[in-house]
Amino acid sequence: MIYKDVLIIGGGPSGLCAAAMLLESNLEVMIVDRGLSLGGQLIKQTHKFFGSKDQYAKTRGFDIASILINQVKDHPKLKILQEATVLGLYKDKVATISHENEYKKIKAKTIIVATGASEKFLAFENNDLPGIYGAGAVQTLMNQFGVKPQDDIVMIGSGNIGLIVSYQLMQAGVHVKAVIEASSKIGGYKVHASKLRRLGVPIYTNKTIKRAIGKERVEAAEIISLDEHFKEIENSSEIIKTSGICISVGLAPSYQMLDMVDAKIGYIPELGGSVPLVDEKHMTTIDGIFSCGDNIGIEEASSAMMEGYLTGLYVSKYLEQKHPNYDELVKKYENALTVLRSGPFGVKTSKGLNRMRELMNDAR
Ligand SMILES: Cc1cc2nc3c(=O)[nH]c(=O)nc-3n(C[C@H](O)[C@H](O)[C@H](O)COP(=O)(O)OP(=O)(O)OC[C@H]3O[C@@H](n4cnc5c(N)ncnc54)[C@H](O)[C@@H]3O)c2cc1C
Repeated sequence: MIYKDVLIIGGGPSGLCAAAMLLESNLEVMIVDRGLSLGGQLIKQTHKFFGSKDQYAKTRGFDIASILINQVKDHPKLKILQEATVLGLYKDKVATISHENEYKKIKAKTIIVATGASEKFLAFENNDLPGIYGAGAVQTLMNQFGVKPQDDIVMIGSGNIGLIVSYQLMQAGVHVKAVIEASSKIGGYKVHASKLRRLGVPIYTNKTIKRAIGKERVEAAEIISLDEHFKEIENSSEIIKTSGICISVGLAPSYQMLDMVDAKIGYIPELGGSVPLVDEKHMTTIDGIFSCGDNIGIEEASSAMMEGYLTGLYVSKYLEQKHPNYDELVKKYENALTVLRSGPFGVKTSKGLNRMRELMNDAR
């Protein structure tokens, strides 16, 4: 058994930022991540980020990952386990890990679950044909391993991820035939949509995929139009020839590990679906087990970082080894989160967080 003050499960932006605060509080920390490299989603993101200077605006995602990794990696009180998957989590704060063909056990005084999110998928005929991908898989193939997934793609979903990945596909030489959106409005930022349109990619709203066509692999997609109740409009079907279909219809928090310890899970659509309930200090309903980042609500890397810093600070206080600049930093990062959530895209998150507080009060 390995003993630590804090075990952080997930070394994405939220886990790395939590680690930075805990190390500055002189605590013994272990980060366990199943990826080939730390950085979470950031290592696949080749585009420059928006936002403010404090959250590395105008810096590419993978460069932000390097900055966050470098700020902690050589600290003598940090142990990093990469390509290590946490398989089980137990209420006595023990985690079981598969690492280098060994089964390891870690016991910590507190645990931070920062496992991010997984992709949502769509139910349609033949959705298991080769040539159908999630947007995350496409990003991993192209941006992490340098593999061009297909010669052409129909993108389903026009949120920021769908739009950004479409652009990245074009940069990799893939013909993006169309972006298909079920609702009446494009989901992502106008700047990303305009960039695609300027490059000749049509973005169709009020449409969805009904079926993938092909015997051994995708050869075409059947696209249908939808009415205002999301019902199929008769005789609206059209066939788009394509060798690939990419599904980008949102992310769902990876709450399952917290389900294992019987932490209370609530259904909050504004935060991405089922989420572990946390209090104002990001502690779940299990004493000493915290969570942050996409795991407690789908937002962006900017907010995941701020939540990570805050969670690290809150945990330092919980362990009675308060960060030397606790009050000043808590104020700074809480203000930053408020600013990030104050724009039009923050309305949904704020509604979700209010619901989180209500459900948490009921659970207490
Ligand atoms: C295409 C795309 C574009 C984006 N663009 C932007 C943007 O422009 N600006 C912005 O601010 N945000 C952007 N985001 C969102 C941002 O990347 C995420 O919000 C952010 O990465 C969430 O951070 P996280 O630390 O919560 O989770 P993640 O980054 O998902 O990290 C979770 C980590 O947990 C690890 N893990 C999971 N399960 C286990 C387990 N069982 N055992 C061990 N390790 C585990 C994973 O390997 C991963 O490293 C984008 C996302 C995508 C997909």
